[in-house]
Amino acid sequence: MINPRFGILMESVRVGPKTARNRFFQTPHSSGTGFWMPHIRAGLREVRAEGGWAVVNTGYCSIHPSCDDHPLDYPRLWDDEDIKTHELMVDAVHRHGALAGVELFHGASNVSNGFTRLPKISPSGADRYAPAHAWMQPGQSRPMDREDIRNLHAWHKAAVERAVKAGFDLIYVYGGMDYLPYQFLSPKLNRRSDEYGGSIENRLRLTRELIEITREASKGTVAVAFRFSVDELMNVPSDHAPSEAHEVVQIMGDDPDLWDIKLSDWPQETMTARFSDEGSHEELYAWVKQVTDKPVVSMGRFTSPDKMVGQIKKGLLDFIGAARPSIADPFIPRKIEEGREDEIRECIGCNICVATYSQGVNVRCTQNPTFGEEWRRGWHPERSRPKKSDQRVAIIGGGPAGLECALVLGRRGYNVALCDAASTFGGRASREAKLPGLSTFQRVVDYRLGRLQTMPNVELYPGSPMTASEILDLGIENLIFATGAKWKRVLVGRDMTETDPLDHPNVYTPDDIMSGAVLPDGPVVIFDFDDFYLGGALAEFLALNGGKVSLVTPASAVSTWTQLTNDHHLIKRRLESLDVAIRTGAFVVGFDGQSVELGFDVPSNLEAESLVIVGRRQQNNNLFHEVRADGGFREKGISSVGSIGDCRAPGIIAHAIYSGREYAERFEEPDAEEFNIKQERILI
Ligand code: ADP
Ligand code: SF4
Repeated sequence: MINPRFGILMESVRVGPKTARNRFFQTPHSSGTGFWMPHIRAGLREVRAEGGWAVVNTGYCSIHPSCDDHPLDYPRLWDDEDIKTHELMVDAVHRHGALAGVELFHGASNVSNGFTRLPKISPSGADRYAPAHAWMQPGQSRPMDREDIRNLHAWHKAAVERAVKAGFDLIYVYGGMDYLPYQFLSPKLNRRSDEYGGSIENRLRLTRELIEITREASKGTVAVAFRFSVDELMNVPSDHAPSEAHEVVQIMGDDPDLWDIKLSDWPQETMTARFSDEGSHEELYAWVKQVTDKPVVSMGRFTSPDKMVGQIKKGLLDFIGAARPSIADPFIPRKIEEGREDEIRECIGCNICVATYSQGVNVRCTQNPTFGEEWRRGWHPERSRPKKSDQRVAIIGGGPAGLECALVLGRRGYNVALCDAASTFGGRASREAKLPGLSTFQRVVDYRLGRLQTMPNVELYPGSPMTASEILDLGIENLIFATGAKWKRVLVGRDMTETDPLDHPNVYTPDDIMSGAVLPDGPVVIFDFDDFYLGGALAEFLALNGGKVSLVTPASAVSTWTQLTNDHHLIKRRLESLDVAIRTGAFVVGFDGQSVELGFDVPSNLEAESLVIVGRRQQNNNLFHEVRADGGFREKGISSVGSIGDCRAPGIIAHAIYSGREYAERFEEPDAEEFNIKQERILI
């Protein structure tokens, strides 16, 4: 039963001609699953409808070949053939009583057109310089003339008609993120002198025309949403309102049936939990409801029902919008409705989803390994197939992989014993969660442990370091090793292969630091060729503890992979503010306890009494091999021995969780193979 405190979240809301059953709104977000993956797309949207979201939207959906964002994957409505790909999603969403929305999009100059090779168009050819976007194509856009604007009207109308045919309930005009209507709105990008440029009324003209066309072409049968990036225009002064952003809402007021408020600065909007808290965009949308009577939705990585209720009660929002929280837990609304809010699998704000979108691959999630696997692997975030037998399972190692595997096997009904050498479960997630800014990593552990503790068929044995003979004598038929990996003391050569381990007592690894090793007082060098978050997080930790820290990396930027998680610039700034000296494009080749030797292109020395190497890891799989050796385990009545997570292949936490899930899903399933992934095919 729902906690009455949260009842307000379940109130229905009228949006134009449609009614949303509650206040949970999955805002449009990309899923890295383009027009050629309609089943995968439908699967990952359907599960949100099943989980209770009242509105489920597509990601940005291109209306015309002059807007193509390859190699990033996007759905499209370019011609009637594309309608079918959306019907799959619409039907799936409707099956669960939710409204289906489509975010129609033309990206103007903020797309690649790498696939169609058509020139990009924009209001006046004043493109934003985007140096970090490796997928952007060289070249500038073509200013739109009157014919282009007439064409745009026609393309938008055709896309609306197709969206209506596909059955969508809600259609977006997308005036955000430097996409076309936004470029017209922006005084920096719109330098036109005709009736589409100059005054704010003129810059708004195109947006209002598109809204009008949407209404006419849909014959009033759908709700029309306007997605509006406010951050930049909130800093543009206006003679008639606190800012031009306010003036836009003032002028348009009731034009759309729904206001969806977002930022134009994507890294700012999708900040990791390391640099932003839940609800951190409040000031950007807090004023909108004072200017319009239409419902307003916005986001803030909301996972706490109390915070959500606060947003509604304070009159800031009508809908709780979510992208990442709805990926991490598609069942947030149902869990709240059923009084199970303690079961919410909270987004950890790690941005693996963001990174994989930016890589042009299917979006994945650290917390929810089933995301994107609903159709192709048949996985579900809350359910798994029932067990096949009464066989028991022992899992050795309770880090992310072991915890996820135990959770799924336990849910399937198997008797599971999960043990860990450490006094608490969590493995690397718990260790890393103690580093500055990474506390949300503990949610990976808390969610799983919380569920496991309620399962009568799962036994938990913390503080249990196991040997091979002890494991063989457990009398449990199935053994799964989730014993993780250890950071190595090796360096990396000019050819990027690893060297022999460095043998010096003052050489440390992340494992040493996270287990509380006390470093000598003198300067520390971190040599980071892992290049994700950990090197930077350790530098921050050591600097905050008073160390004089330098970070050396062969990469061209500190924590370089975090350019994909959208927090690279913040990490760099944070380290600089702590006086961490950053040396890029450099290799540590030696260390004598007084200094590190930097080699190859620019040989030099850096003063250092200790060296921390964040580079490669070694599977902690000796036990696994010992137990499996010669197949002798069979004589002990053991039917299977497997390995998962970092013990199988060192990777990020998302990999470990996926690996634990994958093993548990196919355990005793003869038809399920590790490599048997259902394929989407283009039929000829
Ligand atoms: P993953 O990311 O693959 O889950 P982790 O390194 O996070 O890997 O977790 C591995 C866990 O395995 C650690 O918590 C560690 O304490 C545990 N472990 C390693 N060796 C043993 C052992 N011999 N007996 C019990 N637990 C072990
Ligand atoms: Fe949240 Fe990380 Fe999952 Fe993205 S990948 S939804 S940030 S937990």
